[in-house]
Amino acid sequence: MNIIVCLKQVPGTTTVKIDSQTNTLVRQGIENIVNPFDTYATEEGARIKERYGGKVTVLSMGPPQAEAVLREAISSGADEAILLSDSAFAGSDTLATSYTLARAISKIGEYDLVICGRQTIDGDTGQVGPELAEMLEMPFVAYVSQIEEIDNGHMRVQRMVEDGHEVIETSLPAVITVVKEINVPRLPSLRGLTKAKSAVISVWGIQELEADRGMVGLSGSATRVIKIFFPERVQHGEILKGSLESKVASLVDKLRDANLI
Ligand SMILES: Cc1cc2nc3c(=O)[nH]c(=O)nc-3n(C[C@H](O)[C@H](O)[C@H](O)COP(=O)(O)OP(=O)(O)OC[C@H]3O[C@@H](n4cnc5c(N)ncnc54)[C@H](O)[C@@H]3O)c2cc1C
Repeated sequence: MNIIVCLKQVPGTTTVKIDSQTNTLVRQGIENIVNPFDTYATEEGARIKERYGGKVTVLSMGPPQAEAVLREAISSGADEAILLSDSAFAGSDTLATSYTLARAISKIGEYDLVICGRQTIDGDTGQVGPELAEMLEMPFVAYVSQIEEIDNGHMRVQRMVEDGHEVIETSLPAVITVVKEINVPRLPSLRGLTKAKSAVISVWGIQELEADRGMVGLSGSATRVIKIFFPERVQHGEILKGSLESKVASLVDKLRDANLI
């Protein structure tokens, strides 16, 4: 099994600042971490490799410092890492991100399974997994919570749905997104940490990917951030006083006046 895991580096804080001129995130001075959902993707890749043999390649698109999340993945069981980094990729929306990742996956060539996290904690769209599957023309299963079996070019998985789970069988190669219920990520081993420190991370840019300049970065993005703002907090709270009966009557009157009941 040749497995590709997609990892994104995200800000490890919820108190982010937005550059009012460019409408992008101010990344200076922010601690970056691997997107938490992607640690489950790496762990599942490592478990599949241990069960069926093969190799785990981790892939990330981002600035040069995103190399850190790739080394972290190597310390936790990944074998090879590729960073997609080029100024031409800056400003990518999900469509341009998926196109760039899909070009890299096609260039890697021989793979059976692509694993993504269910969503990121910054962009939070959950669009990259399904878009990748569409671009690679491969089957897709979202919210995978268990890999039951892989056999003879097919895979049976459980996926989480609102009131239970579904069992899905798909042919390989395929793209899946995983939820945190799928496993408990291992801690890096000493051997893994040593391997990660000395690992050579390949860096691919627009030339290596032979990518269409009009499909990457801002020019390849179908969406534009027009304005980012924090919603104003308007506090209209009112505490009703009196007996329980009078408070209920007053509440009903207010709801009627507001045409809510
Ligand atoms: C107009 C516009 C401009 C933007 N400009 C920037 C910018 O300049 N810099 C910036 O950092 N963001 C920018 N963004 C945000 C960026 O587009 C998204 O963060 C990115 O497309 C991924 O979407 P997401 O975070 O919602 O991922 P999701 O779809 O929620 O992620 C699902 C899974 O896909 C995989 N994945 C997602 N992104 C990556 C990645 N980069 N590498 C590897 N795997 C990945 C992971 O496995 C992840 O768990 C911009 C967005 C827009 C709309």
